[in-house]
Amino acid sequence: MSYPPSQREQIILDEVQKWGSVSIKNLADKLGVSAMTIHRDVNKLVEERAVVKSHGEVLPVKVKSDDEGCAMCRKPISDRTAYLLILANGEQKRTCCAHCGLMLQMQMDDVWQPMATDFLHGHIISASQAFFVLHSDLSICCVPSVLSFGSEAEAVKFTKGFGGTVTKMDQVIHHFQTMGTTHAWQKSG
Ligand SMILES: [Zn+2]
Ligand SMILES: [Zn+2]
Repeated sequence: MSYPPSQREQIILDEVQKWGSVSIKNLADKLGVSAMTIHRDVNKLVEERAVVKSHGEVLPVKVKSDDEGCAMCRKPISDRTAYLLILANGEQKRTCCAHCGLMLQMQMDDVWQPMATDFLHGHIISASQAFFVLHSDLSICCVPSVLSFGSEAEAVKFTKGFGGTVTKMDQVIHHFQTMGTTHAWQKSG
């Protein structure tokens, strides 16, 4: 059975509403057309802001950017540990914590400003000015934890109680680079 494009778009919308997310492949099978055709239909819907497309899945647009979870690991984002990348084009990428944020930052070359959340006070601080506590015993969010502090004195005080090392952004990135993967890093901690 073949459907005219407008009807395909309606069916795609219905499926997405019904299931929350549908893969391009499923849609292609269901509608008896090529994945390429579905991609074209979906792109049109994306342009109309009716749906969003992510990793071969079509999702309803009602999901706000804040609810999408970490841009790196998809975990829900806590206000206490959030790490934000502001890109050169004004777009923002939010991650669950500095661990994911710095990982993502390493992979991207158009980061205009990285922002961290002060772990003690909950306010947004510039990541390049922040102090990061690595390998503390307090495992919040991703392991090993990377917690952000606005004040060096507070970061040092924190390590007295919870262990870890106080570092700056460049050092954390260097650490990630030399350790290669997070898994290798995890074992060392
Ligand atoms: Zn994450
Ligand atoms: Zn995390």
